[in-house]
Amino acid sequence: RGKAVGRNVVITYQPAMGEALLERQLLQTHLQSALGGGELTLHYQPIVDLRSGRPKGLEALLRWRHPCRGMVPPCDFIPLAEETGAIVEIGRWVLDQACRQLGEWHRLDPSLTVSVNVSARQLRQPSFADDVQAALDQAGLEGRALTLEITESALLEDLELALGTLQALKAVGIALALDDFGTGYSALSHLRVLPVDELKIDRSFISTMEGESDSDRLAAMIVSLGHACRLRVVAEGIEDSLQLAALKELGCDYGQGYLFRRPQDAQAIGDYLAGLPFAPEVRNRARSRLA
Ligand code: C2E
Ligand code: MG
Ligand code: MG
Ligand code: MG
Repeated sequence: RGKAVGRNVVITYQPAMGEALLERQLLQTHLQSALGGGELTLHYQPIVDLRSGRPKGLEALLRWRHPCRGMVPPCDFIPLAEETGAIVEIGRWVLDQACRQLGEWHRLDPSLTVSVNVSARQLRQPSFADDVQAALDQAGLEGRALTLEITESALLEDLELALGTLQALKAVGIALALDDFGTGYSALSHLRVLPVDELKIDRSFISTMEGESDSDRLAAMIVSLGHACRLRVVAEGIEDSLQLAALKELGCDYGQGYLFRRPQDAQAIGDYLAGLPFAPEVRNRARSRLA
């Protein structure tokens, strides 16, 4: 019987793999309905200007509120969604949702941007540039309100295709960030070829900074490299004030991490944004009146 159906059936009968496969199949089935069932949601984490301490934007981070399992972190289901192709539809929803949310927050501060993570598989969709434009239009946003975060390896999967798509997006003002920079297939030549605006130093470098370590020197190198290419540099995963001080010293432009704020739902982030002093000019004026 196993022979007639195919080799996969034989594999499911191996006890060692059986459980993992069943688990995956379960998750996969549930993932298909999660989007329709409203179980997917976005959290947002501020990306802070290290000089002023103000948020320049928010990164949208996907969460799955599973009815039995609670919050399933993205690392547990995004790879699966990429494999099955579900990431295409999910990614479109993320773009729509993140843009709509930013449109609302623009009433508080119209200079805020939103950063959205994009998978290789999404980028390869012929409709990707149109989908992005549609999300912006629906939310009444200009292209410069949106940053797309992509890893180098995702871009390199089909460089020609990616370049075509990215050029179309760049033409309407959308920014491109290289996510998790310094891990994977980093090559200096990519920075010349790819239409990049931003480097995000991977958290693994930041979390191991301690003043005189290789991580400190590599972080310094990435900041210089970014600035030499006229890119802005964002440090991911800043957790303590020593890391922050070191990164400021290096001239790193922006930072993100638990030290500033954990990713939170739109309600909590909206409250935080609404509680910020209006704008630096307003604050300075207030200060000079006090002096
Ligand atoms: P990423 O894009 O590199 O996002 C940064 C991750 O670092 C997030 O994990 C964030 O919660 C976490 N983080 C931020 N600050 C700190 C910190 O100070 N300490 C620590 N320990 N962690 C920090 P998260 O939310 O679990 O997301 C993991 C990855 O899942 C993301 O990495 C991204 O690659 C992927 N992802 C998330 N949302 C989406 C999405 O909508 N679409 C796609 N394709 N991928 C997504
Ligand atoms: Mg990211
Ligand atoms: Mg990252
Ligand atoms: Mg990362």
